[in-house]
Amino acid sequence: MDTATQTKPVADQTILDHLFRPMGVDGVYARTQAYEDVVDALQRLISRHRPDDAEAFRFPPVMSLRQLEKQGYLNSFPQLLGCICALHGGEADVNAAVERARQGADWTAETTSADLVLSPAACYPIYPIASERGAVPEEGLTFDVAADCFRHEPSKDLDRLQSFRMREFVRIGAPAQIAIFREAWMQRAQAIAESLQLPYHFDRASDPFFGRVGQLMAANQIEQALKFELLIPVRAEGGPTACMSFNYHREHFGKTWGLFDEAGELSHSGCVAFGIDRLTIALFATHGLHVDEWPRGVLEVLRLQ
Ligand code: ATP
Ligand code: ZN
Ligand code: MG
Repeated sequence: MDTATQTKPVADQTILDHLFRPMGVDGVYARTQAYEDVVDALQRLISRHRPDDAEAFRFPPVMSLRQLEKQGYLNSFPQLLGCICALHGGEADVNAAVERARQGADWTAETTSADLVLSPAACYPIYPIASERGAVPEEGLTFDVAADCFRHEPSKDLDRLQSFRMREFVRIGAPAQIAIFREAWMQRAQAIAESLQLPYHFDRASDPFFGRVGQLMAANQIEQALKFELLIPVRAEGGPTACMSFNYHREHFGKTWGLFDEAGELSHSGCVAFGIDRLTIALFATHGLHVDEWPRGVLEVLRLQ
């Protein structure tokens, strides 16, 4: 099914007003109960599709700054990163900063790194955890992970949040195992989108690599078909929105974290990422603001009735 050109009934601002409450910053919202009920239903639906051998982890919204540096994030997407800073030092240092705040000055200039960043993707913390276990077994490894993610891309568009939830299935193993996993998930994702009666299409994609060198990396990624996206029309204006992505990292994480199989071959990895907030917004944009008026088949699939 390719119905991505189908028109949508609900205006963007109406959706935003209905699902969210502003929190004073673009792309950061309080979410209503009606919205969260769909988020929960969607998470459970994805869990019902979880591969049998997958091991689940739920990560906090922060991760180690050193781990993110080590995997080369600053070479690729420095513009998206949010770092956690705090006041360090003794009582006098902290008081000096508080005093600056009292005087209306920028007290945050006194803060220094807390060795933490806001996780920009759900799968990043899993590779060092996997590498702690020694050799990757012959059948490979499969994980189910999720995190609240942050990306510094403030926007008024309803599909581009700064803080959003990501769920992923991650596969670590031989290149052929990753290829089979990704292919199967592109099929499964298609079936999920169809069962939710969401119009969609697939496309090759690239990550938003930073700067001029980044443009080359992005072109390379498209040429090698390392990333596919499932796109759904979400906004009234402009192109469709990437709601799921299917990524092949080749040996990038294997090399960074020393992931090898028993024969000493470097392991490859891949992941399928579900943009939970984007999928939820897509459901409301497609089927309307009132969940009880959604098509019966969709409510049944989500077990919302
Ligand atoms: P885009 O091209 O739209 O910026 P992306 O390529 O950066 O998306 P990925 O890095 O593949 O997205 O992230 C995995 C999934 O997380 C995406 O498919 C999407 O559903 C979701 N996602 C990414 N960025 C955002 C965002 N700013 N707001 C909401 N969801 C997002
Ligand atoms: Zn991932
Ligand atoms: Mg992006």
